[in-house]
Amino acid sequence: MIELGFALHPKWVEQPGRENFLAPLKANGMRVLEFTLHPEGDEWEPMRALAAECVRAGYRCYFHAPYKDPFNPDGFASARRAELESRYALPIEFAEQMARLGNYDPALVIHGAHGKTALAELTEDTRAFLAWVIARTERARLMLEILPPKPGYVRVGETYEQVVNLVRELNHPRLNICWDFGHTVLQNLGLPPADFLSATRHVHIHDLNDAFEDHFPLIYGNVPWQADLRALMQAGFAGAVVMEINGYRAASVENLPARLAESFALMTAVIGNS
Ligand SMILES: [Zn+2]
Repeated sequence: MIELGFALHPKWVEQPGRENFLAPLKANGMRVLEFTLHPEGDEWEPMRALAAECVRAGYRCYFHAPYKDPFNPDGFASARRAELESRYALPIEFAEQMARLGNYDPALVIHGAHGKTALAELTEDTRAFLAWVIARTERARLMLEILPPKPGYVRVGETYEQVVNLVRELNHPRLNICWDFGHTVLQNLGLPPADFLSATRHVHIHDLNDAFEDHFPLIYGNVPWQADLRALMQAGFAGAVVMEINGYRAASVENLPARLAESFALMTAVIGNS
């Protein structure tokens, strides 16, 4: 089954209120939510309060592990392991808490390591980090994400092959792939190979504007999301397709709430009512 979702942030619901904001999206097929867990800074408390509130209200809530500095598995297989374990413990435990609260198995999206060292070293850091997260969790379903270019850095997860290889090597039923449709356009990659498609269990969907900035609603036609979804469906995809919008960037979009609802209507038309 494919379930459509929206990556929610407290800012979206601040003015309209949670259900007023979500109602038009739900009316067009939205079913699940995703939250990015950054446990440092002002956003953590409102974010975790909103996520818990949504789980209690019966939404299946999925999570994105923290990825902004200093959250980066660079050094996990060597000098930074203890530091990183203590940094990531809180958000990972929160995802598990929500899983118990709502009695479900949440997706937990994870980025590979980036840094200034060799790709082999960063791959080892990412492998060790993923193994640690698997050992720390019981219910979270880890999704290693394909990432956009990060100029000036070496990063694990910028090619289909890197993502597939790590997931295959670790070979765990709770480790699969998150395909971000916008990221693969930014990497200039075509459709993924069969082994990537068959290991994909989670999707991030958004459009790029004409300056190729990402995380917009599906209004520009710069991401071939229909073809991407169809390729996944042909491969028997089951999982969440979560729309990730950058609220600050998309604030310039005219009548944004209507555009968001229309994006769900368009996606529902492609996947069929399920
Ligand atoms: Zn991500």
